Amino acid sequence: MNIHEFQARELFAEFGVATQPGKVASSPEEAENVALALGLSGGKFVVKAQIHAGGRGKGTFKNGFKGGVHLCGTPTEAKDLASKMIGQVLVTHQTGPDGKEVGKIFVGEAVDIARELYLAILIDRATSVPVVIASTEGGVDIETVAEKNPEKILRLPVHPFLGLMPYQTRIIAASLGLTGPLMSQASKLFTNLYRLFIERDCSMVEVNPLVVTKDGRLLALDAKFNFDDNALYRQPSIVAMRDVTEEDQREVEASKHGLNYIGLDGNIACLVNGAGLAMATMDIIQHAGGSPANFLDVGGGASREQVASAFRIILADKSVQGVLVNIFGGIMDCDVIAHGIVEAAKETGLSIPLVVRLEGNNVEAGKKTLAESGLKLEGAENILHAAQKIVSAVKAAV
Ligand code: GDP
Ligand code: MG
Repeated sequence: MNIHEFQARELFAEFGVATQPGKVASSPEEAENVALALGLSGGKFVVKAQIHAGGRGKGTFKNGFKGGVHLCGTPTEAKDLASKMIGQVLVTHQTGPDGKEVGKIFVGEAVDIARELYLAILIDRATSVPVVIASTEGGVDIETVAEKNPEKILRLPVHPFLGLMPYQTRIIAASLGLTGPLMSQASKLFTNLYRLFIERDCSMVEVNPLVVTKDGRLLALDAKFNFDDNALYRQPSIVAMRDVTEEDQREVEASKHGLNYIGLDGNIACLVNGAGLAMATMDIIQHAGGSPANFLDVGGGASREQVASAFRIILADKSVQGVLVNIFGGIMDCDVIAHGIVEAAKETGLSIPLVVRLEGNNVEAGKKTLAESGLKLEGAENILHAAQKIVSAVKAAV
């Protein structure tokens, strides 16, 4: 799960991670009032579009207005900027071409930046520990830094039982050139950010940029969080921050039906039971020269209704040009699956190729249900043939 920047700032405030003062606004008038309330005499304001994607500064609105992050000098200008952003669709390199509609903006005190740094904490799956990533090259894509100047990135593993040790905070600070009074600010900020990362079950927090201001403060100016979905049951305050309008609507719909669904870029939808089989099915579609449109695990004991919902979600996706159903009936009854498929296909008026591979518990009844349904579909005896059939059927159809 992800959250907005203004929500990230609320977490920063709770955990004592230094950032600039400011507040979220949902209308131009509110933006003006937030700016007025900041009470900056002769100061500057920063106005930022709130969407679940980075790269806002360099993004462009569909109405032609450039940039989702702006500086301005007066509350009236903040209001004017807000009116150009709220309700508009912002496209950045992270949103994809469809962009994301801006519902809220953050208005804060603009700071004078001396240096932009990069700081992140994430779980390194290879070593199974949290890792702090730090770089002097902030404000730009860390991927670009990793490619061009890998030596400018510090990776510091943290022992999960000991936590981030004071000496480690000093190593990170030193690597970022933070000395003197900045080092003690840095130690405090890193310690608190790490505590936030652990206590709120984050899988990633990225502060880009972390800035040194001209008046000598170290502040987190931007923040991107990912939370471990499997820990959300014990994080009610995080769940309360969820904004489903920012999420893939197919995934939101799937989660309502208890389905594990992840949207992908390809055109062949898969409906599979069991995560392992789903992964293998995606691999074999690629192997057969196709590209999967999704990962979908209907679970070990899916009901007829769940299968039907899964089918509806798949078929509502405009990029899907063919469907591969690959079910191994271990716990599951193949006939239940067959009935779910028939029900959903009839309801949605299925018009694209469908290949079904059923195997296992009560498979004969399942095959009979499909055969008698009058649906136009192809059966397959094994997973490789199933993948080859759907790939060629999709190629023939387009
Ligand atoms: P992103 O483009 O979505 O990553 O949004 P950021 O919050 O990182 O803002 C983009 C850039 O705007 C930052 O890298 C900074 O260079 C600049 N920026 C953001 N806030 C301020 C500010 O308070 N003062 C100044 N001078 N620049 C800012
Ligand atoms: Mg940023």
